[in-house]
Amino acid sequence: MSNAHSAADAPAPVSNFIRTIIDNDLATGRHASIVTRFPPEPNGYLHVGHAKSICLNFGLAQDYRGQCNLRFDDTNPEKESNEYAQSIEDDVRWLGFQWSGQVHWASDYFDALYGFAVELINKGLAYVDDLTPEQMREYRGTLTQPGRNSPNRDRSVAENLDLFTRMKAGEFADGAMVLRARIDMSSPNMNMRDPAIYRIRRAHHIRTGDKWCIYPMYDYTHCISDALEGITHSICTLEFEDHRPLYDWVLDNITIPCHPRQYEFSRLELNYTITSKRKLLQLVNEKKVSGWDDPRMPTIQGMRRRGYTPEGIREFARRIGVSKSENNVDMAIMEGAIREDLETRVPRVLAVINPLKVIITNAEGAQSREAGFHPNHPEFGSRTVPFSRELLIEADDFAEVPPPGWQRLTLGGEIRLRYSYVMRCDEVVKDADGRVIELKCSIDHDTLGKNPVGRKVKGVIHYLSREHALPAEVRLYERLFTVPQPDADRDVDFCTYLNPGSLNVVQGWVESGVQHALPETRYQFERLGYFVTDRRDHQPGGKLVFNRTVTLKDSWAKEQA
Ligand code: ATP
Ligand code: MG
Repeated sequence: MSNAHSAADAPAPVSNFIRTIIDNDLATGRHASIVTRFPPEPNGYLHVGHAKSICLNFGLAQDYRGQCNLRFDDTNPEKESNEYAQSIEDDVRWLGFQWSGQVHWASDYFDALYGFAVELINKGLAYVDDLTPEQMREYRGTLTQPGRNSPNRDRSVAENLDLFTRMKAGEFADGAMVLRARIDMSSPNMNMRDPAIYRIRRAHHIRTGDKWCIYPMYDYTHCISDALEGITHSICTLEFEDHRPLYDWVLDNITIPCHPRQYEFSRLELNYTITSKRKLLQLVNEKKVSGWDDPRMPTIQGMRRRGYTPEGIREFARRIGVSKSENNVDMAIMEGAIREDLETRVPRVLAVINPLKVIITNAEGAQSREAGFHPNHPEFGSRTVPFSRELLIEADDFAEVPPPGWQRLTLGGEIRLRYSYVMRCDEVVKDADGRVIELKCSIDHDTLGKNPVGRKVKGVIHYLSREHALPAEVRLYERLFTVPQPDADRDVDFCTYLNPGSLNVVQGWVESGVQHALPETRYQFERLGYFVTDRRDHQPGGKLVFNRTVTLKDSWAKEQA
């Protein structure tokens, strides 16, 4: 399946408070067009929460014919890498979006940021403080108690300039001092109590190498980067609401012609998984999963390898909407969006994942039948579904002692083989332990493409001709965690709630037509779900490996033969 549908021809957007603000800004002429940005830190792979933010920021730019920048917030050199940055670019593009112009980096602005810090010092609005971290904490006060001014708060401009220059020149040890904004130690907002805006850190930076040993802090960097790029609407998650006064304070106190507005929306929390890069990194480092792209991971790479489509993920983002209220979303919403997208777009083939052997005792003269790859899309083409003496069916499609309402196979009962004959089970063969290992069945030769005479056969099951089928590794996934909010309790390690049965690898069988499928080819395996050939391990013409993307909604719904 190709990425034929770009994000540009998406369904109509759902209105939200940010769109209302933008509509108003455009109507009043406050802005002629909009500029948004997606500002990830390249310190991990993106997850489904970032997908929401990407769809929001890039989606707004698209809908309003504005622009959206991709900017790496690379102010934390120890944790950042080019591998992460590259994966983020890949993910944004894979989701169907393209940033405007070049990729931006906060580090592009390190010289400018330094200059603005000097400006703040000159205005008496920033000072170098060499309190120890413990003292700093003590002076800072608490939520209920105001902070106290540092004894260094009233250093002269000349002294601050001298110290800051020497910080930059590498004269002081890491952590020996910081540059602080001089705002208000008694502010009820802790972020305004003279926050640090520069720290000393001797760390090799992926872009600037060893040029700098001081690095600007996130809050200081972010607003200035936005302003330098002419961002109109700086959209972030709600935990930054308390940082907005600082965002505005910095821009109000330096000489810069642009003052973007920050708007906050609630983070996406997806049930039965986690949306924190740090915790996802822990799963990778502790080898609880096979890597960032493990198909059980809520990373964009994981979802991709699992077989989720960009269209489905964008539709998910559209459905969950954007607001300021809690955004705890059930996995069923994601799965529903993915399933609906795949339903009309991928070919349907036959596979058996838990095989039971069937011998057709009267197979002589039986014929194979032509079947289309999709009931509503004749243009997908068709193939011959082979029939022969030895078949494979799903073991769970047979019950010796059927529960009430059973419409599948049982001893003495009849079912329709998908695209083929009506078949009756005549005999059950068991091993020494009493396990069913084979069925002896017969077909009604008069039922190929025809209803049987004199009786109704309701159930339809799928099958493969054993000699025509190919073995395949099939990876079935369950939820990664056993509880809806694995990281809700701070005192319990979220890994405690890992689901030990989240990956189930089985040896299954597929019809031979899929033999040369390229990696990332999607299929519906009839009655079993949607599957994708694994991006890493599947070998066209060789070892076939399928990941189950999502099950079908109602796999036992009655189907027409
Ligand atoms: P994490 O907590 O997983 O490390 P982060 O917010 O630190 O995420 P960034 O790289 O700083 O990661 O995030 C880039 C953008 O994605 C930010 O604008 C952030 O607000 C947004 N974002 C991150 N997580 C979510 C989420 N769960 N829901 C919506 N947006 C998110
Ligand atoms: Mg962050």
